[in-house]
Amino acid sequence: MCGIVGYVGKKDSKEVLLTGLYNLEYRGYDSAGIAVKDKDKIEIIKSVGKISNLENKIKKEKVLKTNIGIGHTRWATHGEPNETNAHPHRCGDIVLVHNGIIENAKELKEKLEKAGEVFKSETDTEVACALISHYYKKEKNMKKAISLAIKELTGSYAFAILNVNEDKIYATRKDSPLIIGVKGKESFIASDIAAILEYTNQYILLEPGEIAEVDSNGLIVTKNNKKIDKEIVKTSLSASSNDKNGYEHYMIKEIMEEPVLLEKMFENNINNIPDISRFSEVHIVACGSALYAGMIGKFLLEKYSHVNVLCECASEYRYSNVAYPKKTLVIVISQSGETADTIAALRKAKKEGAYTLAIVNVETSTIARESDEQFFISAGPEIAVATTKAYMLQVAALALISYNSAKQKKLIDFDIKEDIRLIPKLVKDIIDKREEYKEIAKEIYEKDNIFFIGRLIDHAICLEGSLKLKEVSYIHSEAYAAGELKHGTISLINKGMPVFAIVTDDDIRDKTISNIEEVDARGAKSYIITTRETKLKDTTIVVPKINPFMQPLLVVPILQLIAYETAYLRGCDIDKPKNLAKSVTVE
Ligand code: GLU
Repeated sequence: MCGIVGYVGKKDSKEVLLTGLYNLEYRGYDSAGIAVKDKDKIEIIKSVGKISNLENKIKKEKVLKTNIGIGHTRWATHGEPNETNAHPHRCGDIVLVHNGIIENAKELKEKLEKAGEVFKSETDTEVACALISHYYKKEKNMKKAISLAIKELTGSYAFAILNVNEDKIYATRKDSPLIIGVKGKESFIASDIAAILEYTNQYILLEPGEIAEVDSNGLIVTKNNKKIDKEIVKTSLSASSNDKNGYEHYMIKEIMEEPVLLEKMFENNINNIPDISRFSEVHIVACGSALYAGMIGKFLLEKYSHVNVLCECASEYRYSNVAYPKKTLVIVISQSGETADTIAALRKAKKEGAYTLAIVNVETSTIARESDEQFFISAGPEIAVATTKAYMLQVAALALISYNSAKQKKLIDFDIKEDIRLIPKLVKDIIDKREEYKEIAKEIYEKDNIFFIGRLIDHAICLEGSLKLKEVSYIHSEAYAAGELKHGTISLINKGMPVFAIVTDDDIRDKTISNIEEVDARGAKSYIITTRETKLKDTTIVVPKINPFMQPLLVVPILQLIAYETAYLRGCDIDKPKNLAKSVTVE
């Protein structure tokens, strides 16, 4: 969601900024802009829509060649996506880009208007810019002005800030990520390392309350006016991690990576699985696909480890009145580790005294750093907005954790080591049948409505199948607990309406089969994904039977590929579905 890039060095800043903004495109945005500084002049160029529009405008307007600049991709929260609302914003001597939400923007705006400030945009960002400008006019000192301003701001922010009088960029943040890339005397500001991998793989993490001052001599970080020595972190990622490897879209490339990533993840973790058997209650909290991965974990833990599990979306959980009995474990799941609602849920759990375990991809993220224990899924960068490989690895992590818990409690007597060895090959075989799923996509891509049905763990898989399809193809779809359908929603079943049914749990197989018969009797066209043939005449995909912890891993790629092929046939912008953002860093 939204992106920041900044540069100070010897290169032409607009080139570095554009490269960075292109690299950040995957996060989802609606408009973009840059500000470049030369002597006492700051030039601001903004445009709505794709970065290519901005690039064309920069070429047409013959933007200055300078060595300092900041850039932004905006995902609008306050005010529609138009040029006026796009960042950078300028108030007096101050020019600023912002990721996040200023929650008290309205009150601050009123106060600043009374003091004579005139606003051009509808954004909360311009209010922050005006506040810094207000204090700068008084103090004539940037660090002081920023410190005073951030004391008054509530909400989340990462700022990169220029002052027309100084050849520097200032940066600060709270609850929105921001790093400073370093390479000799060049410095790069970025909300995400992906923005700057072409230039450097070394960076420092900016902590809340710290102010970075970046100029052609390098970088100084201070907190409360005291200089802080920052550790330089090195990432193993490189610019090529962002390549499509010859695939047409990141989504398909990332699905294809699943077998190898699963193999590596199992190898790295099999002898070091978190042991959660000591907890008497578990909460699993996440958003979107990570939440649906969590639901798979819920069913596995309840069935095989005999522990009560509450699985809830973080945006509700953070404000709920849930109780925390002694020995409560809270598992939070987030690919980026920066999901705002999940961070808030984690902080709530910690405040209530619960032990916290994070299943997370980005090892330097806020969630990784603030949780008590971490399970890193090591999916590498996921560029497609709709998650595939990270979701699969989250499910695999939960499978390992639930298996280990059941084993520690001596509630199961089988071993999964042999299955773990087989899984990557089995997933690959399933993915290799892409042509079969293409045929199904041809049958459904012109439909307006699609249902997914299943019970218990199969219902959890349906939720993700349905979400993936609607995210990328924009076809309306619903996932239903199969037995619930007849309590109302079956009235929506029409002749020829596609219904995907997942049937992998043998204990409730016959019940789900009856539900498929019910929809078939009302004219639905069912597609069954199951572990053995049924007597029904519907299109059936049979996947190998494997231990119950790993079974979802053999179904999910089929649903991901059907979603991909369907979106492809509909000509959708598969890697960047409209209105969606990659990591949702605002509430
Ligand atoms: N809240 C700001 C706006 O609406 C920033 C949004 C973003 O993070 O891109 O302009």
